[in-house]
Amino acid sequence: MNYKIPRGTYDILPKDSAKWQYVQRIFRETAASFGYEEICTPIFEMAELFERSSGESSDVVQKEMYRFQDQKGRDFALRPEGTAPVVRSFVENHLDLQGGRHKFYYIGPMFRYDRPQKGRYRQFYQYGIELIGSNHPFFDAEVISLEMQFLKALGLKKIRLEINSVGCAECSSDYDAALQDYYRPHLAELCPDCQKRYEKKPRRLLDCKVPSCKVLRQDAPSQLDYLDAPCRDHFAQVQSYLNDMQIDYKINPAIVRGLDYYTNTAFEIIVDDLGAQNSLAGGGRYNGLIAAIGGKDTPAIGFAGGFERLLLAMQNEGISTAEPLKPQIYIIGIGEAAQKVVIQLLSQLRNRGIYAEYNPDKSSFKAQIKAANAMGAAYAGIIGEDELSSGMISLKDLASGEQSTVDPSDLPNLLIESKNKESNNL
Ligand SMILES: [Zn+2]
Ligand SMILES: [Zn+2]
Repeated sequence: MNYKIPRGTYDILPKDSAKWQYVQRIFRETAASFGYEEICTPIFEMAELFERSSGESSDVVQKEMYRFQDQKGRDFALRPEGTAPVVRSFVENHLDLQGGRHKFYYIGPMFRYDRPQKGRYRQFYQYGIELIGSNHPFFDAEVISLEMQFLKALGLKKIRLEINSVGCAECSSDYDAALQDYYRPHLAELCPDCQKRYEKKPRRLLDCKVPSCKVLRQDAPSQLDYLDAPCRDHFAQVQSYLNDMQIDYKINPAIVRGLDYYTNTAFEIIVDDLGAQNSLAGGGRYNGLIAAIGGKDTPAIGFAGGFERLLLAMQNEGISTAEPLKPQIYIIGIGEAAQKVVIQLLSQLRNRGIYAEYNPDKSSFKAQIKAANAMGAAYAGIIGEDELSSGMISLKDLASGEQSTVDPSDLPNLLIESKNKESNNL
């Protein structure tokens, strides 16, 4: 039997795990510097939650969700995105009744049955934040600046920010009517999906990937021309805050949201050399969602991004991440009697958090020194007959070749100091 990994998924092998840990660490640190704390929700939820949050007629729910029934016939889905679970948890834990601002970040796998291609997978890792409890435009800009700060901390340069406003429940219905007026003479030219969208969610016509629909979209009216005064003011303030934060942006009216609970700011961060899958992260306001899933009406804004594309973009820009793990010391025992001392020394060092290697399989001294060099160890610690009788250890600096004799009780501090010196020099 040949077992294979499911299509659209991948393994993260040890040789790559350091860079995954690196980008996650930078994200956690950036989020923490803005006062965000982690929230972890289950990988599966009631399927209904996503029907409510993504819309029953959306592609996510209709085509892409991994749905299953448990032994009792309950209808569940693997989470296709991270916002609905956070909002479900927020409401279920009555945080909506507490008032105030709540800042969450999350990291974890999401699942969509989609056509796999470069940068797009069926199990993919997302990071995201949600700020719940304020409609102030400052926070729209701050949420955007967190994502920009994260990408900057990773060293990405070829990124651009595009923003739009999708209005509110009141002014977006005027816009829907304007869109229907525009598309009415072209109904027959629309794809079958868009013909259905025309009646219910005309804004989703702007999102269609079918080429003939994309052509029609070019002359469609812009949402920005239909914003009412409060929404126009909100958008102007977001831009003014972004200017104060010295964040460059472009206004792109084509960034749309198909559902009613999305309000005001929508944004996307694009990287240029990633081909079709060029969106690194996207987000926006969703002031209507919390009430839509049964909570107290509470404004909110957030974004989500994928780690896969992030790593691809970093690779394209030649950004190197963390070094693979290398032993601080490789211990070589010569002869049977040395082994006992070696094993004690190993635990002493590891107890102090020092990465120490030892391999009882390799017998000759030459083979062991070779192995220590191959692993990139900083030092070799040698325990042979002389060392056993003197109670000392021979320590060889593998970079310089210098050798010295040290007391085993001094060894942990010596290795820690040398490691600190090394990381200060980086
Ligand atoms: Zn409005
Ligand atoms: Zn279409």
